[in-house]
Amino acid sequence: METMEEWIQEQIDEGYMRAGDLEPIKCQWCESSDLEDRNHGYENLGIVSKEKWCNACEKRVNTWSYGSWDL
Ligand SMILES: [Zn+2]
Repeated sequence: METMEEWIQEQIDEGYMRAGDLEPIKCQWCESSDLEDRNHGYENLGIVSKEKWCNACEKRVNTWSYGSWDL
């Protein structure tokens, strides 16, 4: 069984995530890289959450909250 670290490295190698902050850069559903941030959530200090959506297939790719992406 692969570890979380290995899975993340695979996602980076295959171009789905950006190394470093692990921001999604390619849709896992349709392979499009036409992604957009939507549904930003704000609190006093600024942005606390947002969703990454694919413009090509209109599916949600991932959600970011309080500093990290859902894995
Ligand atoms: Zn897509």
